[in-house]
Amino acid sequence: QAVFTKPASTRRLAVANQKGGVGKTTTAVNVAAAMAQGGLQVLVIDMDPQGNASTALGVNHTSGVPSVYDVIEGRNTIAEVMQPCPDYDNLDVVPASIDLSGADLELADMPNRNNLLREKLDEFLAQSDKHYDYVFVDCPPSLGLLVINAMCAVNEMLIPIQAEYYALEGLGQLINTIGLVQQNFNPALLVSTMLVTMYDKRTLLSQQVYAEVKNHYPSIVLDTTIPRTVKVSEAPSFFQSVIKYDPRGKGALAYCEAALEINNRSNVVLETIDMRRNEN
Ligand code: ADP
Ligand code: MG
Repeated sequence: QAVFTKPASTRRLAVANQKGGVGKTTTAVNVAAAMAQGGLQVLVIDMDPQGNASTALGVNHTSGVPSVYDVIEGRNTIAEVMQPCPDYDNLDVVPASIDLSGADLELADMPNRNNLLREKLDEFLAQSDKHYDYVFVDCPPSLGLLVINAMCAVNEMLIPIQAEYYALEGLGQLINTIGLVQQNFNPALLVSTMLVTMYDKRTLLSQQVYAEVKNHYPSIVLDTTIPRTVKVSEAPSFFQSVIKYDPRGKGALAYCEAALEINNRSNVVLETIDMRRNEN
């Protein structure tokens, strides 16, 4: 059984990549569940109107249910909308529903539009009876205001990278956006973690993608890779993480390993990507 250690203070990570289908939600949900299973207190904030993280963690997120939309629009606190994940006492979820789909436009005119989530999260973490070890924000596949809000509310970016031919395409743009947020709004923001997902160890392509990403970002890329498995893709249809659904399977074990690796980096000086050095 893996041994997780509590970080000195709450670590907040946004799971982001403007490409869809690279494993953001799967990563957010399963790293969070692995940590919860390991005894840590975890909060997952679903920032994607699709609500896939809410589905996979088994919380109600039908239209009209109080959600992150009401939080960022100031109608509710995080404490009021969050729901416990039915599988783990120590995993709470702020759901997202389709109601969030207009938010990018609605927020555009608000004076403090970049920091709406940050203010609510700071307030929640300061007032909560529980001490949270980790907060994960699952981002939609864009670089819009919802993602900027996520980047302003955390200090670490976790970037899943799918092991495929186009893996690095768009990464420069993502890093540039993170650099801009760091310069203008959130100086504490770091790219701490990249995780290669849907890795197939039998293919040369997977190996090449891993080597290339590792070569570009040696201290950021986790040693652990996530294999492509049927169980990982099936778990959400049972409203479960793969950690719960297939605890001894390859997918669950890989996500536990990735979660441990992230946890073990707590005290390491996490590396900043300097956007001026980014050659795209
Ligand atoms: P994103 O949030 O970046 O859009 P998802 O996490 O939803 O991506 O993953 C996209 C699709 O790929 C989903 O259907 C998911 O179940 C599947 N998937 C993700 N990771 C794996 C994996 N390791 N093995 C098999 N299927 C996966
Ligand atoms: Mg997603």
